Amino acid sequence: MSAIMSRQEALIGQTLEELEELMRRWGEPSYRADQLAQWLYRPVASLDEMSNLPVRLRDQLAEETIHHPCSIQAIRHSRDGTRKYLLSLDDGELIESVFIPETDRSTICISSQVGCSMGCTFCATGAQGMVRNLTAGEIVDQVLQVALDMGHTPSNVVFMGMGEPLANYAALLKSIEIINAPWGLNIGIRQITVSTCGLVPVIRRLGKVGLGITLAVSLHAADDQKRTRIMPINANYGLESLMQALHDYVRDTNRRITIEYALMAGFNDSEIDAAQLVRLLGGLLCHVNLIPVNPIRGGRHKRPRLDEVERFQSLLRRGGLQVSIRKERGGDIEAACGQLRGQWEET
Ligand code: SAH
Ligand code: SF4
Repeated sequence: MSAIMSRQEALIGQTLEELEELMRRWGEPSYRADQLAQWLYRPVASLDEMSNLPVRLRDQLAEETIHHPCSIQAIRHSRDGTRKYLLSLDDGELIESVFIPETDRSTICISSQVGCSMGCTFCATGAQGMVRNLTAGEIVDQVLQVALDMGHTPSNVVFMGMGEPLANYAALLKSIEIINAPWGLNIGIRQITVSTCGLVPVIRRLGKVGLGITLAVSLHAADDQKRTRIMPINANYGLESLMQALHDYVRDTNRRITIEYALMAGFNDSEIDAAQLVRLLGGLLCHVNLIPVNPIRGGRHKRPRLDEVERFQSLLRRGGLQVSIRKERGGDIEAACGQLRGQWEET
């Protein structure tokens, strides 16, 4: 058996090219790879359902490969229709994904790592520390597992679950290829958002690739000292280098950037904070998303009242920025931004 199809590597997560290579090695005609991809990347639970593949090929696949790298351990249902999934991986690690229904679309929020090494003080995943990167298959399978449970594939994918996607670059690019490809999940590139805490060199690499995804950047403070206090990454890549990279990204891709700003009462929600943010973002093609910070266990950041959030929004608007307030979804099941931590013993 070759390296690309060892027992550890699942079928979900293979590109069409890799499936073609596998079929060639097994002496199958190459169109089998197209057929296989068509089955793999739609919500199909078992190899037995792949009716146009010969039984002997299905048997060989069952014998020599793993189909899904993730399996659903538990699901929590929110009053607002949001669902949080606890998924287990082959090595027993746990990750979470969130399905968010809206009137005109549905979004799945997926994880890119088990844990995260970035240590942001307001984030439950950060408190967990870094365990390991996910494979492309483990990233893609989150979308498929949720699609299987919901009975349809979500229209939008956001990399805003556990982990820092740009710290898992190769798997991120491969998973985006599969999620977007016509032979894959066929979700439009504009419907895919990747959120980063600001890994400047990787933002630059991503800009050069020019994928057409939406880049979201977690800013949360417009002042270096303040940002470093809540986001240690800022000590390595400060605001000046981050802003330069974002301007270059817009120049290279022509895409508007989403700026995420989690409002923490008494920390980053004053008039001065708003004025600094207006100055920092002036001239950048961007949209600001204000997120009243979600409480995490043992966390020290406080959520501002809605009227304070609206006041901050109007200050930014007056400064010429495009701003929206992100509606909290799934807060009652700890599925909101930053609340994912991949362990449910106490819940
Ligand atoms: N690591 C990436 C993506 C995952 S976090 C990143 O940091 O961007 C997804 C978003 O949730 C980020 O904007 C993150 O800053 C935000 N977030 C984390 N903890 C939060 C919390 N407690 N309340 C609100 N937003 C939070
Ligand atoms: Fe990691 Fe993002 Fe959480 Fe920061 S906010 S610790 S980068 S997952």
